[in-house]
Amino acid sequence: MILESRSRLGGVIQTEKIEGCTIEAGPDSFLAVKPAAMDLIRELGMAGDVIGSNDHLRITYVRKGGKLVPLPDGLMMMVPTKILPLVGTGLLSLGTKIRMGLELIRAPKPHTEDQSVADFVREHYGQEAVDYLAEPLLSGIYGGDPRELSVAAVLPRFVELAAKYGSLTRGVLASRAQAPKTTTPAPLFRTLKGGLGQLVEALETSIRGKVTVRQTRVECVERTASGGFRVRADGEWMEADRLIMACEAHSGAALLPAVDGRIAELLGKVGYSSSMTVAVGYDAADFAQPPAGFGFLVPKKERKRLVACTWVGTKFSYRVPEGKIVARCFLGGMEDAGVLKESDEAIAATVEAELREVAGVTAKPKFTRIARWPRSMAQYTVGHTVRQAELEARLGEIAGLHVAGNAYQGIGIPDCIRMGRAAAESILKS
Ligand SMILES: Cc1cc2nc3c(=O)[nH]c(=O)nc-3n(C[C@H](O)[C@H](O)[C@H](O)COP(=O)(O)OP(=O)(O)OC[C@H]3O[C@@H](n4cnc5c(N)ncnc54)[C@H](O)[C@@H]3O)c2cc1C
Repeated sequence: MILESRSRLGGVIQTEKIEGCTIEAGPDSFLAVKPAAMDLIRELGMAGDVIGSNDHLRITYVRKGGKLVPLPDGLMMMVPTKILPLVGTGLLSLGTKIRMGLELIRAPKPHTEDQSVADFVREHYGQEAVDYLAEPLLSGIYGGDPRELSVAAVLPRFVELAAKYGSLTRGVLASRAQAPKTTTPAPLFRTLKGGLGQLVEALETSIRGKVTVRQTRVECVERTASGGFRVRADGEWMEADRLIMACEAHSGAALLPAVDGRIAELLGKVGYSSSMTVAVGYDAADFAQPPAGFGFLVPKKERKRLVACTWVGTKFSYRVPEGKIVARCFLGGMEDAGVLKESDEAIAATVEAELREVAGVTAKPKFTRIARWPRSMAQYTVGHTVRQAELEARLGEIAGLHVAGNAYQGIGIPDCIRMGRAAAESILKS
C-alpha cells in the first residue's frame, strides 16, 4: 500500500500543458550518466519517448556586473579543462585565471575531515571561483550554500581526484584521458518528450489493481509486539511487516521517534532548502533577439531574487511550440526561503522585471505558472556521509525499515529511483 499525503503521486515531479507548452513545475530532466532512471523507463516500455538535451546549443551564462557572461567552454562544474577559453573569459579576473593555471602544479594535501564545498574550491581556485562558479552552479542545482554543503557528499569524485593528484584540474584531465572514447557523446540530460509526469503516469498505470494507493497523511509510526510496524493515518491504525519511508527526511523525523529515537534524530539533521519555479510564456515576437543558450545563473553577489533561468525551448525539443518562448525561473534556496510566502502577483512582477533587465523583454507574458516547493530539496551539509553511514548501520538493525529519497545517497531522480528499488529488492529478498 502507498500512503501519500498529496492528492496526486509523483512528489515534486509534476507536468502541466499550457498553451501547447510542456511546463515542469519541479524537475525537468535527469542526468544521463546515472542509469537507474533509464532502466526504469525501459522497463515501463517508454524508451521511445526519451529525448536528450540539445547539447549543441548548451551555453550557460552567468550574470556579472549586470551582463550575461558565458561559462568558459571546457568547464566541468568549476574545473577548467581547456586553457584558451579560461584565458579569454570575462567571468574571472586575471589573478584568478593565474591561480587556476598554477593549480596544475599543486601537490596533494590530504584532508582527513570533510570540508565545505566553498573551502575546497577556494583552496584549489580561489574565492572568485567560489563566487562566480561554485556558488551559482550549486544554487542552481541544490538551492544550496557552498559554505554549508559537504564536498565529500556533493562532489565525491573531485575529492578522490584531488587526494590522488593534488591538482583537481590534473585529476579531471587524467580521468578523462582514461575514460573510454565515444564517437557520439551522450547528452548531458535526458527527459521524456511529454514531460516527467509521463513517468509518474506510467508507474501509476503499472501498479493499478496491484497496489492500493491512499491519499492520506501518515501521522505516526510505532512498532508492534511481533516486530512489525503500525502506521496511523486519518486516525486509523494499519499494520505492516515492512515499511519504506519515502517521504522527506524532516517528515520521517517527525514520524519515527517511537520506532527509533536516534534514526529520527539523524533524519532531522538533514537540512532542506525551499524553492520555487516560475514558468513564464511569451510570444517569440516579444523578444528583439531570441535568448541565447540554455539559460543563465545569477551568483549571490549579483542576485536580486532570480537564482537561475532556463530557456525551455532551447534546452529541449518538443517542449515549446514554434513562435513561443518559455523561461523557467528558479527562486528561493537557502538564502531566500521567504520568497515562497510572497503573493503570486508580487512574484510574477519580480520575475518579469528581472527578465526585462536580462533579456530585454518588455511585453506582458502570455502565461505565468508558479510552483512552490517548501523544504523539498535536501542539503548534504558537512558531515553528511558520516551521518548517513550511522543511519544505514542503525537501519540495518531494524528489520523491515527502509528509507528512500533525496535526503540520503544522491538528490537526483536516478538516485531516488535507485534507492527506492534497492529498498523494494531488499524486502523481496527477505
Ligand atoms: C524545484 C525542483 C527541481 C528539481 N530539478 C531536478 C532535476 O531537473 N533533475 C533531477 O534529477 N532532480 C531534480 N530535483 C530533485 C529531484 O526531483 C528530487 O530529489 C526527487 O524527485 C525527490 O523525490 P523524493 O521521493 O525524495 O521526494 P518528493 O518528491 O518530495 O516526495 C516525497 C513525498 O512524500 C510525501 N509525504 C511527506 N510526508 C508524508 C506523510 N506524512 N504521509 C504521506 N506522504 C507524505 C509528499 O507528499 C511527497 O509526495 C529537483 C527538485 C526540486 C524541488
